[in-house]
Amino acid sequence: KLYNQVQDLKGNIRVYCRVRPFLPGQTGDLTTVDHIEDSSIAIATPSKYGKDCRKSFTFNKVFGPSASQEAVFTDTQPLIRSVLDGYNVCIFAYGQTGSGKTFTMMGPNELTEESLGVNYRALSDLFHLSKIRNSSQDGINVPEATLVPVSTTSDVIFLMNLGQKNRAVSATAMNDRSSRSHSCLTVHVQGKDLTSGAILRGSMHLVDLAGSERIDKSEVTGDRLKEAQHINKSLSALGDVIASLSQKNNHIPYRNSKLTQLLQDALGGQAKTLMFIHISPEVEALGETLSTLKFAERVA
Ligand code: ADP
Ligand code: MG
Repeated sequence: KLYNQVQDLKGNIRVYCRVRPFLPGQTGDLTTVDHIEDSSIAIATPSKYGKDCRKSFTFNKVFGPSASQEAVFTDTQPLIRSVLDGYNVCIFAYGQTGSGKTFTMMGPNELTEESLGVNYRALSDLFHLSKIRNSSQDGINVPEATLVPVSTTSDVIFLMNLGQKNRAVSATAMNDRSSRSHSCLTVHVQGKDLTSGAILRGSMHLVDLAGSERIDKSEVTGDRLKEAQHINKSLSALGDVIASLSQKNNHIPYRNSKLTQLLQDALGGQAKTLMFIHISPEVEALGETLSTLKFAERVA
């Protein structure tokens, strides 16, 4: 196989963690992030807040606030290239609203070459490594989703911008423009094993999940509340599926949510999954930070 670096990595499920830097204007704020190493992160409550919670978490990789988009991609690239070996690859960006999920997957609003996210870099990487042919309409199973043949990275950027505009965004008490929807970019790749001539079919799903924050029932009602409950249900169902896969259980509970049903083929068998969790550094985010880290610990 051509791109078998990924086989050096243990298992089919890995968890990365990224800590967002403080945003401009936030520099004096207190942080809960006490210590970061290559694959561990320690969270501590600043003593001003009544102190003495300190907890460490270990993941496959931890990126601190100064990690560049390029550095993040370098550690993701082997996984993406395994698509060409016929693997199904899923990358999930998980975390509370504002923690940097979209930044990792797409980049900031004003894109520069350095700030391009995983989506763009993954697509250009795959285009550079292959001779592109047209895709067909086969195998599409998401209602109202569109399958479009693409031949350059800019075709894909155009489509992603369109998708981003269509994405449901509504106001919640937590954040004026919090994303209350999952956004998924799927790429189907067909390749040929140069040694045996066998045709390999791989797929890549890049999923920017809806915010993982718990919604206070007193703050939203009606459709908003239903939507929030749907989101929480689908995120915990995703956690259940990945946790069962990582424990190699016989029964994998795909049927508990639309999200896991739609991704069923991409999540089992010859699949490689990266759960990329995101942390906001502010002390106000402590509760969500701990719940994100616990979610990640369970699927690791
Ligand atoms: P989410 O998608 O999780 O709601 P965003 O990706 O929109 O969060 O990030 C919230 C804000 O923080 C945005 O203004 C974004 O540009 C900024 N941001 C997030 N991560 C980083 C980072 N690693 N470096 C610099 N700015 C970041
Ligand atoms: Mg977002």
